[in-house]
Amino acid sequence: MIYPILLYKNNRNILRRKSINIKKKLNILELINNMFDTMYNYNGIGLSAPQIGININLFIISINKMVIINPIIIKFGKKKYYKKEGCLSLPNYYVNVLRYKSILIEFYNEKWEKKKIKIKNLSSRIFQHEYDHLKGKLIIDY
Ligand SMILES: [Zn+2]
Repeated sequence: MIYPILLYKNNRNILRRKSINIKKKLNILELINNMFDTMYNYNGIGLSAPQIGININLFIISINKMVIINPIIIKFGKKKYYKKEGCLSLPNYYVNVLRYKSILIEFYNEKWEKKKIKIKNLSSRIFQHEYDHLKGKLIIDY
């Protein structure tokens, strides 16, 4: 199932809200599958739950089909770099965003396995972009 993606111009309140953690063992597999269908349909490389109107701490990343539940960033690397970013909630809008090249993160995957990994480059950038969505932050804030 493909969800409509909320646009900032029409859904500012939802996109600005802070998301809450998901309770463990809650079955969200169907939701996750639908989010992947939606992301691919819109040619996105990442998608957060708030963008489909659900303010929970969940997002997906196209690289390695990562599912990120209740994430935290444990440590930021030393290097930062600028790159132009877009957002499915802000069509035709591109902003140069300064992000960390590598980050150490902790999260649960779709099997509710706890993961602690270091990610870098594009994965790190997408993670930080989607993580911002969970905090109600968007690329226009940069
Ligand atoms: Zn976005």
